[in-house]
Amino acid sequence: MKMLLNGQWVDREEKIEVTDPYDNSVIDTVPSASLDDVETALASAVKGFETTRRMTVYDRAQILYKTAEIISDRLDEFAITIAREGSKTIREARKEASRCVNTITCSAEESKRILGETIPWDSFPGGEKRRGYYYRFPIGVVLAITPFNDPLNLVAHKLGPAIAAGNSVILKPASVTPLSAIKLVEAMLEAGLPENAIQVITGIGSKIGDPLVSDERVRMISFTGGVEAGKHIASKAGIKKIGMELGSDSPVIVWKDADLALAVESCVSGSFWAAGQNCIGVQRLLIHRDIYDEFKTHFVELTNKYKIGDKMKEETDMGPMITEAEAKRVESWVNEAVSKGAKVLTGGTRTGALYAPTVLEHVPPDAAVHCEEVFGPTVNLYPVDDLDKAIAEANSLPYGLLAAIFTSNVDVAFKAAYELDCGGVMINDSTDYRLDSMPFGGVKYSGLGREGLKFSLQEMTEPKVVCFNLPNM
Ligand code: NAD
Repeated sequence: MKMLLNGQWVDREEKIEVTDPYDNSVIDTVPSASLDDVETALASAVKGFETTRRMTVYDRAQILYKTAEIISDRLDEFAITIAREGSKTIREARKEASRCVNTITCSAEESKRILGETIPWDSFPGGEKRRGYYYRFPIGVVLAITPFNDPLNLVAHKLGPAIAAGNSVILKPASVTPLSAIKLVEAMLEAGLPENAIQVITGIGSKIGDPLVSDERVRMISFTGGVEAGKHIASKAGIKKIGMELGSDSPVIVWKDADLALAVESCVSGSFWAAGQNCIGVQRLLIHRDIYDEFKTHFVELTNKYKIGDKMKEETDMGPMITEAEAKRVESWVNEAVSKGAKVLTGGTRTGALYAPTVLEHVPPDAAVHCEEVFGPTVNLYPVDDLDKAIAEANSLPYGLLAAIFTSNVDVAFKAAYELDCGGVMINDSTDYRLDSMPFGGVKYSGLGREGLKFSLQEMTEPKVVCFNLPNM
């Protein structure tokens, strides 16, 4: 596939191969952008903004509705692209494609609710003869940088609201999974998006990242990815708005009065969805000691039923990690935990990029699988006796995206909701539950700002005050 610069789909001699991590076959290639391409993207995005800022809400919404319709009509095609270039099974990929339709549709709807307010100028002496309001205007060129693990819907979470707001966008998709993103942009152009409104630049983040991120023509960076890249980007960005959706090590508390079957089913799915490469994937399960053994038995039983392998087969529950190198990293982290006393209850094996769903207990606090984001198909079980201590343990790491608790006691649920230090608390769901329109984001190293269409629109627009001085009134 090609990249989109200044309204043209262009190729380059230097290319990046996009491979299927299941069998390493090359699916396609994309151009590896040069620094000249970065300049073209920036200059064209500035021109594009002159068009998008003048588009009516009606036109922006119609383009987004039409985009959603195109994706919906070609759902299978999108799902196959997601499944082939990334880690997701075909069933997981279909869900992502249908969520993308919702994300783009909600962006269209939210474009009609970019509201302002009148201002009570007479609330301070001297303002009696003044009348006015504020409205929200588009921020300008938005640089969207996206990760590999949801190669379509996380791109939609940036392009949808950016277009809805009237911004122009430069998209830099993950270099391992650029194809779904390019197909989304093709759909947007087919739906009538003006050519310069969007640029897609494919390339290696470490090569083209700094000149994009640090350029003053970019008014907002909307980044989703890992903490290390996030810190680097923040250090280079200069004075511009930054939205950061980063990693986590999501904790889930299972209290003694929980619906055990529900907790086991949700947490197994939440641990191994997308082979655990999921920013809200369950990593730490804090289970009340009274039910620990029963929970553990059922959790391991259900994990053992998982079919892993070929992503394109309907019956497959979990596919490979994004690369063999990533699977080897997870393997080495599990081995490190075992060498420090952890016990593997099931899994712990690797074949190429396929790492078996792995359940661990007795994980020491200094093991990487405890204190770092694993971003792989492993989960740790810990017995807990006391709610305060469970919450303190959940809060003990430098992340805070989503947390969860299973309980039938409303007091326990309320306490957890207030005390867990994170961007959202799921009650009787694992952390792996997200509605695309809810405010989504984290505290501490999990991020800055919020996505979720209405909330992204707030981030991607700025208030402008208009004040009329009316001395003759
Ligand atoms: P990554 O940080 O390696 O890469 C993310 C994107 O940043 C890619 O497009 C990459 O090319 C680009 N990039 C890397 N270095 C850059 C630089 N110096 N300048 C500009 N761009 C640069 O992350 P990944 O491995 O693709 O994704 C996994 C990470 O993303 C995990 O940590 C996961 O938790 C996080 N994530 C967070 C959310 C969320 O919403 N909070 C959602 C999905 C993934």
